Amino acid sequence: MDRQRRRILKKRAAASGDKRIQALLNVLNHGQNPRFHPSIVVEFRSLVKQLRDLDELFRSNPKLFRQDNGEHIEIFKQINLVLSRYKVFLRILYSFRYGKPNPQGWESAWFRANDSEQECIEMQLILTIIEIAQNERIQLLVQCQECKKWLFARVSSQKFCSEKCRDKFHSSNEADKKRRAAWARQKYARKVRSKKGV
Ligand SMILES: [Zn+2]
Repeated sequence: MDRQRRRILKKRAAASGDKRIQALLNVLNHGQNPRFHPSIVVEFRSLVKQLRDLDELFRSNPKLFRQDNGEHIEIFKQINLVLSRYKVFLRILYSFRYGKPNPQGWESAWFRANDSEQECIEMQLILTIIEIAQNERIQLLVQCQECKKWLFARVSSQKFCSEKCRDKFHSSNEADKKRRAAWARQKYARKVRSKKGV
């Protein structure tokens, strides 16, 4: 394989990863997406949260995971309960069905074991969530502190989806601080007045 081809393949792998993360964000952000029952969206959101909890637990106490009792066991149970509901098999298909074929002319898709004609589109999303967690990047899957939109942070300190949200959050926080300070001043003044018997 020459260098150029290798570069193209590397780029393509990164792009397909981005595409999958984007597809996941679309679902997390659109609870009313008609492709999915709202309960599925709730389930995905809680799966992300549980994996984040697990990640935090492991970071704070890695030794805990050698034990078969502890807080982590309950999270494992809950995650495995969700995963056990997906009984699927993989199938390869001509990729012309969405118009443009894949470079190799086919693609793979998950189908439901109990209904071999029905594609299980949730499966790829679940695998994407698991893969993000396995790559130690689950803490990057967060909600904007201002508008609550889900995003995949570029750096761990990113807390907002946009500059607009960041500014809005800080300005409303600032206004809130001022309001509280004014209220405290008023309260103090009242106390002083009542002590003086004014
Ligand atoms: Zn936002």
